[in-house]
Amino acid sequence: MDEFSFIQSIQPKTYKRTNLIKGIGDDAAVFRPMYHDVVTSVDTFVEGIHFSKETMSAYDVGYRVLATNLSDMAAMGSTPSFYLVSIVIPKHWSEEELQALYKGMEDLARLYNMDLIGGDTVSGDQLVVSVTIMGEVTSGKARYRSHALPGDVVFVTGTLGDSAAGLHVLLKKEKGEDYDYVINRHRRPSPRVKFAKSLEAIKRLSLNDVSDGISSDVGEIAESSHVDLHIDYEALPIHSSLKTSFDKFLLRKWVLSGGEDYELIGTVPPSDWGRVEEAARKTGTRVTRIGRVEQAKGSTPTVFLHEAGTKQILKKEGFNHLKGD
Ligand code: ADP
Ligand code: MG
Repeated sequence: MDEFSFIQSIQPKTYKRTNLIKGIGDDAAVFRPMYHDVVTSVDTFVEGIHFSKETMSAYDVGYRVLATNLSDMAAMGSTPSFYLVSIVIPKHWSEEELQALYKGMEDLARLYNMDLIGGDTVSGDQLVVSVTIMGEVTSGKARYRSHALPGDVVFVTGTLGDSAAGLHVLLKKEKGEDYDYVINRHRRPSPRVKFAKSLEAIKRLSLNDVSDGISSDVGEIAESSHVDLHIDYEALPIHSSLKTSFDKFLLRKWVLSGGEDYELIGTVPPSDWGRVEEAARKTGTRVTRIGRVEQAKGSTPTVFLHEAGTKQILKKEGFNHLKGD
């Protein structure tokens, strides 16, 4: 199959968004923003590093790639609208698998009323998928990591460590009904777009998503906002199937630094906590208070972990691509 017919095959027949002016087929796409602020980001996934056919189907690869991008849109408080896909195709990926990969993205995009509006297609030795996503937000309403203030409540959506547990089970080829939940959480994360949108009435809110593991993601809020964050380990939300099926040591590592759960972590003034709970109820999202924000005591903003009456510094142990190589 040549590049031309491939592009034709993945080209949407119709578009969902009325503010799209030119979709796939010209040198570039054109859309007219509905709100004033356009939010955009890009994420790149390389076979063998970010995913492998051993643990995921082609469909899941597509689904997950777009889900991680949607999570960035959620973490900015924006509504996703368009995406572009740049793909490097190696010989060992069949046409059926490529179609399945696009289907995974398309099925998720449909849930969020998003359109595929462009991309690029080249060949190479490894499958690389790079997704550029666009979202929109009411002027001045984008949510930043830098908006935490002393006195804030720290919260997290969903449960932590699920994705890392799922990957562990998949790599060890362990079987059991109990594992279906974590495997699904690894392959098909649920970006918290609707929940983030429901927080719109809150005046000040800091937000980040759980991509590298909370030790790292909470640290980013501390650094950007120049505050200390105090996290209560016993308060961290852990799914019941993790508590019963896995070793305590592994579980702790996954919860603190597993990452890729694509949940949201944020901070709000205590007076807005009720609004957060309301958004959780409205969108069927679990939300848990896990700590508080304090003024930075030292010269570097720090995250403290409180556990069984002790306090320690929570280092950024999350997955860091540049570390050690
Ligand atoms: P150009 O040479 O102008 O870059 P291309 O032949 O690369 O044009 O692309 C033609 C059209 O198809 C463009 O609208 C482009 O955005 C779209 N496109 C190309 N590759 C992909 C892809 N992998 N996924 C989605 N759209 C694509
Ligand atoms: Mg091109």
